[in-house]
Amino acid sequence: MTSITSLDKQYVAGTYGRFPVELVSGSGSIARDSSGKEYIDMGTGIGVTCMGYSDPEWVKAVTDQLSKLQHTSNLYYTEPCAALAKVMCERTGMAKVFFSNSGAEANECAIKVARKYSAETKGADCYTIVTLRNSFHGRTLTTLAATGQDHFHQLFTPLTPGFVHVSAEDMEELSRVVEETKVAGIMLECVQGEGGVIALSPEYIKAVAQLAKDKDIPLIIDEVQTGNGRTGALYAFMNYGIHPDIVSTAKGLGGGLPIGATMMSAKVQNVLGPGDQGSTYGGNPVSCSGALNVLNRLDQDFLEGVRQRSQYVFEALQGAKGIKSVTGMGLMIGIETEKAAKDVVNACMERGVLCLTAKTKVRLLPALNIPMELLAKAVDVIKAVCAEED
Ligand SMILES: *Cc1c(COP(=O)(O)O)cnc(C)c1O
Repeated sequence: MTSITSLDKQYVAGTYGRFPVELVSGSGSIARDSSGKEYIDMGTGIGVTCMGYSDPEWVKAVTDQLSKLQHTSNLYYTEPCAALAKVMCERTGMAKVFFSNSGAEANECAIKVARKYSAETKGADCYTIVTLRNSFHGRTLTTLAATGQDHFHQLFTPLTPGFVHVSAEDMEELSRVVEETKVAGIMLECVQGEGGVIALSPEYIKAVAQLAKDKDIPLIIDEVQTGNGRTGALYAFMNYGIHPDIVSTAKGLGGGLPIGATMMSAKVQNVLGPGDQGSTYGGNPVSCSGALNVLNRLDQDFLEGVRQRSQYVFEALQGAKGIKSVTGMGLMIGIETEKAAKDVVNACMERGVLCLTAKTKVRLLPALNIPMELLAKAVDVIKAVCAEED
């Protein structure tokens, strides 16, 4: 064991099952470990470093801001925060943004907006948020309550009350809950990430959006993982032709710096007033400069490149030996393998390709600008590992 690993094991809370790899540097889609071994990175820190490592343009945007003003409180105006909010609203049709630091916080804010809107329009007893079974919305006690997977809940109860879970693709169940309960918000991921990279059907998403509109229930789309180009659209909801009331995002937004954002449509844009929400770091100028660089580069040509890379991966893996199915959207890809996903990921790592898992699947979240030849190499390694007899 090297000193980094032993120090970590001794002093860092044991919440993660880490791989026996110490990453020290990276460039583009290549990551390097402390022994000098190089890996093609198909995980990007769980969909975060969407432009790769030490991308020169992103580094310049961030370091220019870093040498000017690294932080101020939200008592003052700063340009990167205002400019980022403008770009996010103009490109999504949303009206206002609240900035925080993570996906869970972005979802907390989304839930607060939905609850306050519904309390004001329908009464204080209208507080129930409906989410989907198999969803993932974060690790705080409230976003855990929103998360529809019991194994995350055990021994942390009581969680925040007022959450009900329904099954995806079952409009009857959702309609019944909406009839029987005072519902303050409906929250879902268009592509369930941690739940196994499962894209919900357009019919279902459209029906949910229609029901929410008919009943004046705020629709919250959790784009923490699916957002910022990941699915080949700027935000996944755009693939479905719906207009959510609230959209949360984080992960890839900052390109590697902590940032969360909750976008609000015109209907709910003034629900939060002075004192209703806050965050010391929220809107941090360095994080916002990184995010602004990311979003400004995610133009139509760039997104077309994401879709082409996606098509390449789907075509290369579908029907390949040892691969049962390929799911997901854009560069958010789940692979059901005949071997255990964990074994595939470990074998790929041995051969210099870093992959993730999601439930029983191998999950890929490569950089959105991964060079085609690296993508092809990584796909070849994954195919070879899946095809091999033990
Ligand atoms: C990762 C994730 C979260 C939580 O984000 P954190 O930044 O870890 O708090 C919430 N929702 C979805 C869909 C996610 O994938």
